[in-house]
Amino acid sequence: MKIIDNIKELKENIKSLNGSIGLVPTMGALHDGHKSLIDKAVKENDNVIVSIFVNPIQFCAGEDLDKYPRQLQLDAKLCEEAGVKIIFAPKVNEMYDDDKNNLTLICPSYSVVDKLCGKSRPGHFDGVCSVVAKLFNLTKAHKAYFGQKDAQQLFIIQKMVRDLNFDIEIIPCPIVREKDNLAMSSRNKYLTQKDRLDALNISKALFEAKKLAQTNTATKRAIIDNSLSLMKDLNVEYIEFVDKNTFMEQDEIDKNTLVLIAARTKETNTRLIDNILLWELV
Ligand code: AMP
Repeated sequence: MKIIDNIKELKENIKSLNGSIGLVPTMGALHDGHKSLIDKAVKENDNVIVSIFVNPIQFCAGEDLDKYPRQLQLDAKLCEEAGVKIIFAPKVNEMYDDDKNNLTLICPSYSVVDKLCGKSRPGHFDGVCSVVAKLFNLTKAHKAYFGQKDAQQLFIIQKMVRDLNFDIEIIPCPIVREKDNLAMSSRNKYLTQKDRLDALNISKALFEAKKLAQTNTATKRAIIDNSLSLMKDLNVEYIEFVDKNTFMEQDEIDKNTLVLIAARTKETNTRLIDNILLWELV
C-alpha cells in the first residue's frame, strides 16, 4: 500500500494500475463504519483508493475543523490490513489555492441543499460536492462508496453525478452501529461518558419510531413527541420526515419515509446525525 500526499504522484500511480478502481472518500479517524465501505470496495474492485482529507471548505466558522481527529498512522494500518492499494492524504494547499475566496466550486442550488444539515451548515454541501468532484477527477474511479449515515450527503452526491454526468457509480452502504446502536462516527471520540449515554437516545428514538410506525396506528406527531421526550437531554437541531426518493418533507408517514435526526450533546456540544427508514427490514 502506498500513502500519497501529492497530486502528481497520485496521477502517476493511477496510470500504472490495472483493472477497476474503487474510491472511498473519508476524513480519516477511521472506524468500523468506514471499514465496511472499504471492505465492500475491496470485494468489488481490482484497486481501492481511500482518501483521507479533513476538507476545510465543508466546515463552517466555529465548527470543529481544528480539533477534528487526525490519526494517519492508525488509519493506514486499518487500510493496509483491509487490502487498500493507495491512501491519498493530501495537505490542504495541495487541494486548494491559498486564497479560499478564489476557488471554482460546485454549488448545488435546489431546495434539498438548504434543508436538514444545510440549514445550520450553510455552504457545507458546496464544500462536500467540490471536494468529491475533485476526488472523482483525480482518481478516475469507476465506483465510489458512501455511507447512508450521511443520507442527505449521499442524496446530493448521487444527484451531482446524474446532473453533471460523472462517469462513476455511487454505491450506498448501510449504517454501521456500535453494539448498543449508537451510529459510528469519528466525532464519537469527543463524547464524555454522560454525552455518550445521552447520545444513545438518538438511535433509540429512531428505532422506537420504526416500531411505532410498524403498528400502523402511530402518527408523525406521536413519533416526534416520543422522540423528543427520549432526547430531552440533548439539544435537538432537527427531526425530519422525508421521502427517501426525493428528500421532500412528508406530512404523513408512508412506505418511503426516512426519519433524520441531528442533535448536539450538552457537555461537549458534539453534533451527531443519524437516520432510519421506517419500513426497511433489518
Ligand atoms: P467521514 O469520514 O465522516 O466523512 O465519512 C466518510 C464516509 O464514511 C461517508 O460516506 C460516511 O457516510 C461513511 N460513514 C461514516 N460513518 C459511517 C457509519 N457509521 N456507517 C456507515 N458509513 C459511515
